[in-house]
Amino acid sequence: MFDTSLKTYGEDVFSEREMRAHLPKDVAAKLIATMRESRSLDPSIADAVAHGMKEWALSRGATHFTHWFQPMTGGTAEKHDAFLEPAGIAQAVQKFSGRNLIGGETDASSFPSGGLRSTFEARGYTAWDPTSPAFIKRHSNGATLCIPTAFCSYTGEALDMKTPLLRSMQAVARATSRLMEKFGREPSHVTITLGAEQEYFLIDRSFYLKRPDLLQTGRTVFGAAPAKHQQLDDHYFGAIRPRVLKFMTEVEERLWALGIPAKTRHNEVAPAQFELAPMFEDQNLAVDHNMLVMETLRQTAEAHGLVCLLHEKPFEGVNGSGKHCNWSIAYGDKNLLSPGDNPRDNAIFLTFLSAVIRAIDLHADMLRFSTAGAGNDHRLGANEAPPAIISIFLGDELSSVMREIETGEKQEGAHRDRASAMKVGVDTLPPLPRDTTDRNRTSPFAFTGNKFEFRAPGSSQNCAASQTVLNTIVAESLDAICDKLEKRGGDFNSELQLLLQRLIKKHKRVLFSGDGYGDEWPREAARRGLPNLRDTPAAIAPLDDPANRELFSRYGVLSASEMSSRREIASADYASRILIEGKVALEIARSMIRPVVADEFSRLATAIGQAKRDGLKVGLRGLGALSQKLGAGLDDLHVKCERLDKAIAKGEPAAIRKTMDALRNTVDRLELLVDDGKWPLPKYRQMLFVY
Ligand code: ADP
Ligand code: MG
Repeated sequence: MFDTSLKTYGEDVFSEREMRAHLPKDVAAKLIATMRESRSLDPSIADAVAHGMKEWALSRGATHFTHWFQPMTGGTAEKHDAFLEPAGIAQAVQKFSGRNLIGGETDASSFPSGGLRSTFEARGYTAWDPTSPAFIKRHSNGATLCIPTAFCSYTGEALDMKTPLLRSMQAVARATSRLMEKFGREPSHVTITLGAEQEYFLIDRSFYLKRPDLLQTGRTVFGAAPAKHQQLDDHYFGAIRPRVLKFMTEVEERLWALGIPAKTRHNEVAPAQFELAPMFEDQNLAVDHNMLVMETLRQTAEAHGLVCLLHEKPFEGVNGSGKHCNWSIAYGDKNLLSPGDNPRDNAIFLTFLSAVIRAIDLHADMLRFSTAGAGNDHRLGANEAPPAIISIFLGDELSSVMREIETGEKQEGAHRDRASAMKVGVDTLPPLPRDTTDRNRTSPFAFTGNKFEFRAPGSSQNCAASQTVLNTIVAESLDAICDKLEKRGGDFNSELQLLLQRLIKKHKRVLFSGDGYGDEWPREAARRGLPNLRDTPAAIAPLDDPANRELFSRYGVLSASEMSSRREIASADYASRILIEGKVALEIARSMIRPVVADEFSRLATAIGQAKRDGLKVGLRGLGALSQKLGAGLDDLHVKCERLDKAIAKGEPAAIRKTMDALRNTVDRLELLVDDGKWPLPKYRQMLFVY
C-alpha cells in the first residue's frame, strides 16, 4: 500500500536534515551556508562532506555514485562508478573521496560540443553544484547516488545547459539587488523561481511497439484522424481512469521521495493527454526536478505497460504538449511580481513588470530561440499552442494601469476610486484578478497574477534554455533602468514615473491581449515589427546576431563561441531529426503500407476478372470503384515515396518535411480504404482511446 503520510517525502535527498545527521556540526553548517548563499564549496570540507554523503547513501542502499549533468543533447547524462575499492586479494572497501564529489573528468568526445572541444582535448569536466542537493535514484536491484554537476571543457567553456543557467541566475540576482537598492531596500537574498507544468501523453505499450515511427522519432508520421478526438472537450479535467491514476500515484510516490513537490495532476485537452504540475521552487532546482519528472514519467509508464510520450506533437490533429514555465523573482520573502498593498511596493512591482516588458520586446528573438526544435515546430503557430510570435498578455486591469502610466490619463472603465491617473510610488494598484477567467490561453507570455507564464517551451525541452534567456534579458533591462535612474537625480517617484512612461510607450507594441490564434494577429504583429520566427532554422538565426552575442557575453552567460556552438548543435539536431523522420516514414510506407495496399489491390483485380468471367450482374460497380481508388492510391504512394527518397538523398530538411507531409496525406487516405484488419499500424482511435 502506498504511503499517504508524506513520511517518505524527500527521503532520497541529501537534505539539510541528512547533512546535520551525517556530517560533523561545523561541516554541516558550512555546507548549508554554501547552498543557501549559492556559493561554491570550500575544498577543505570536501572530504568530510563526501564521507558523510557516502554513509548516508550506503544506508539508503546505494552501491554506485555518478555525476549527473545536462549535456546539450537536451537530456541528462550519468556514468556510474561503484564505491568499491580493492583492498588486497578478494577484499574490498567502500570509498568516496572529496575529489570524487567535487569534480570529475569524463570523456566528452561523444557529447555534442558544437566545435567547442578540439579533438586533442576530448576531456570534459563535471563540477558539483551544491545549490542542487545530491539525491538517490532507485531501481529494482539497488540505488545510485547522483551528484548534480555542471559540465565544462578544459578551457571552462560550458558544454551543458546548467552552466549558462547558473551564470544567468547570478546576473539577474545581481541586477535585482542593484535595483532594490535604488528603492532603498536592505540587501536580501534574491531567488529566481520556476514552476514547470509538464504535459504528456500515455498510450498502451503494445501499440507503441507496433509503431516504428513512435519508437524512433517519438511522433506518428502517419495516422488518419479518428472521427472523434477532442471535439467534445470531454477529456479536459475529466475523471482520471483508474489505470492512469495508478500510474500517476506511483509517479508521485517516486517524485515525493526525491523531494519534488508534485502537486497537481489532471487530464489535458487531447485524449490520452495529461499534465503534472509541481509547486514552484528555486529555478536551478526546479530545472533539475523537471528533468527527473520527465525521466520518472517515462520509467514508471514502462512499469505499468504504458508509454509516456513527451514529444511536442505525437499525434497530428489533436493538441500537442507544452511545458509552461512559470517564472518570478523573490527578494527575501517578497515576490517582486506580486503587486503589493502599499504605494512603494506597487512602484517596485510596476518597475519589474516594465523591465520584463522591455526585455521581451527587445529580445523576443532570443526567447523564441530558446524554444526552437523540430518537435516544437509542430506546436508553435499551429492554432492550439501559442504562436511563434512572442507577445505579452497582461490582463484588463493591469493593461489599463499601464495605459494610465503611459498617457497620464485616467482610463475609462477601470473600476477604481481614484480621480486621476495612477501615480507610481504614490497610489496603490487596484486589485488584480487572479482567477482563470482573465486568462488568455493563446498568449505565449502571460502575466498570471504574480508571475509570468511562458507557454512556448515544448514538453520535451530542458527548461534551462528558456530560463537562461529570460534571466539574462531581464538582467539587462533591470540594469538599463538602474543606469537611467542614476543619471537623473530629481524626485525619485516622478523620475521613475517618467522613466516607466517612456518604457511603456517604447515597448507597448509587444503587449497583445487579442486572439493569438487568429489570422489577423500575424499581420498585425508584422505591422508592429514583431518577429515571427516560424520554424527552427529561423529561430536559431538570432544566435548569430552580433547584438545578441554582445549581450550574452557582457552578462557572462554565453561567450561568442558558446553561442555559435549552440547554433551549430541546434542546427545539426534539427537536420538529424528531420532526416530520421523522413527515413522512418519512407521505410514504413514502402515496407509496411505498400505491400498491404498492393495485396488488396491485386486481390480486387483478380476478383473483378473472375466476376466478369462469371458474368455476375452485381458487385462489379463496388469492386471497380474500390479498385480504382486503391490503384490510384498505390500509384500516388509510389510517386510520393520517390519524391521523399530524392529529398532524403539531398538531405535538405525543408524538402524532406514537405515531401513527408505529402506522403502522409496519401497514406492517411489509404488508411481509410484498406481492410481494417490488414492495416499494419495501430490507429489513432486505438492509441488515443484504448489505454
Ligand atoms: P494555474 O496556472 O493552473 O492556475 P497556479 O497559478 O497555481 O496554477 O500555478 C501554476 C504553476 O505556477 C505552479 O507550478 C506554481 O507553483 C507556479 N507558481 C506559482 N507562483 C509562482 C511564483 N511566484 N514563481 C514561479 N512559479 C510560480
Ligand atoms: Mg498555468
